[in-house]
Amino acid sequence: MLTPPQRSQLPRILDPRRLANQGVILAGQVALAHCERLQEAVLEVSEPIDVSLTFEIAEQGRKVVRGQASTTVMMACQRCLEPIASPVKASIQLGIVWSEDEAKALSKDLDPWIVDGEEADISVMVEDELLLALPFVTYHPEGQCHVVIPSAMGEETSDGGKENPFSILEQLKNSGSDN
Ligand SMILES: [Zn+2]
Repeated sequence: MLTPPQRSQLPRILDPRRLANQGVILAGQVALAHCERLQEAVLEVSEPIDVSLTFEIAEQGRKVVRGQASTTVMMACQRCLEPIASPVKASIQLGIVWSEDEAKALSKDLDPWIVDGEEADISVMVEDELLLALPFVTYHPEGQCHVVIPSAMGEETSDGGKENPFSILEQLKNSGSDN
């Protein structure tokens, strides 16, 4: 069997502002041992966490990091409770800020990465992004589940199309006045 090429482990503690000034591109893996919250949220993290990040200076001198993190986790099927493998992919678009106050000034396409000193733990940031990207519920595909679904019921729920998209829009509008 061929072994896939080994990707290097990313350094855990970095100075993200300096990397942005230098326009650094990082690709590698984040150690699972540093991601206990993710491990607790799922049955098992079954693949290494691959990360690629571009640190750069964006509009108005804003220091940003963009890229992605991906792995595969085992989660319990919500029908039969047996494990199911779910790929997880987080798209990362972060503005590096000193404080919550500064975070409010970020443009809409950026989420804040609050780094209040010179150094930051990159595994915490990657773990946060992956936790946000976890599916809320997972089901085996029809025919592979350990619970047999009566066919009439299976058809109704197969594409999840029961929710009226306009009612979701309505909810978004009504809850949009928070900040
Ligand atoms: Zn199942």
